[in-house]
Amino acid sequence: TQKIRIGLVGYGNIGKGVELAIKQFKDMEGVAVFTRRNPADVDSNLPTVSIDDILDYKDAIDVLLLCGGSATDLPEQGPELAKHFSTIDSYDNHGKIPDYFASMDSSAKIGQNVSIISVGWDPGLFSINRALFEAVLPVGQTYTFWGKGLSQGHSDAIRRVTGVKKGVQYTVPLDKALEEVRTGLNPELSTREKHMRICYVVSEEGANQTEIEQTIKSMPNYFEPYETVVHFIDEEQFETDHQQMPHGGFVIRTGESETGSKQKAEFQLELESNPEFTSSILVAYARAAVKFKQEGKTGAFSVLDVPMAYLSDKSPEQLRKELL
Ligand code: NAP
Repeated sequence: TQKIRIGLVGYGNIGKGVELAIKQFKDMEGVAVFTRRNPADVDSNLPTVSIDDILDYKDAIDVLLLCGGSATDLPEQGPELAKHFSTIDSYDNHGKIPDYFASMDSSAKIGQNVSIISVGWDPGLFSINRALFEAVLPVGQTYTFWGKGLSQGHSDAIRRVTGVKKGVQYTVPLDKALEEVRTGLNPELSTREKHMRICYVVSEEGANQTEIEQTIKSMPNYFEPYETVVHFIDEEQFETDHQQMPHGGFVIRTGESETGSKQKAEFQLELESNPEFTSSILVAYARAAVKFKQEGKTGAFSVLDVPMAYLSDKSPEQLRKELL
């Protein structure tokens, strides 16, 4: 059988992760990386091509994996490309998903393509578990905790503080809050009450560390509302211990069935590399896009619209026998 031919749009963390992930999916092959930069400057083992030439590849690609950022890349590139290709993306701006869905849906319908949006783990696998747990346990409460994980935005914010040479921020779930949830107390918790922020900072020589710590801790929105801890470390330790992009978290639903029996469902992820895992999810959903398209479906879909069997390279018969 013919392999699923994948095109990558954008070569950042997710783009690099997709290139690597494809090696583990024997039914897939990478065709090219499309970039806005000079293709010669993009260091991929796949052919690198200017995004301006992407339409030349319409017949050479089954699914485009859109690996750009959610803030500005995807809202611009997604609706344009969905007119010409079936697409998968990891759009993660939760508040704007309905608008993004609508614009992807109309573009994909124009091109008679399939676009599966907001694929990843949150949104993505976490969304699936929130929906599943809520559907099967109607009386209860759902909680999402993130971490321990590196937050790109908060790390950037630290690095902008005067006197900071290098810095990273990890979001960590508070044990006390997790415990309250797991014991079924059904607490009302804001994001702030569920997480703390731990920062590792390398300061410039002669910089005032007390001042740096104060500036970080009092930063509105980013750190001020949270319990924040700042650790100063040397550059060597920073280079050895803080180069990975770990992440993960929990979706927990606690509830009661009609007799008052307490029921708890929990889904956990513990990731050494957020981009590598997210990329692997994007690649798996390419199978679903191909199957949807073969069935004549068009338009946008989210992970909640895709049956589990469509993610697998096994047949429904095989899945029923081996995994059901
Ligand atoms: P990123 O590394 O910043 O890459 C975004 C884009 O920036 C790339 O596609 C690339 O486009 C460009 N770029 C990358 N490196 C560059 C460089 N050195 N110089 C100039 N341009 C460069 O972002 P990312 O970490 O891959 O994340 C992408 C998105 O994934 C995030 O915005 C987030 O929305 C999403 N995400 C979702 C989940 C989830 O669970 N749903 C999880 C993780 C991430 P060009 O090649 O065209 O220049």
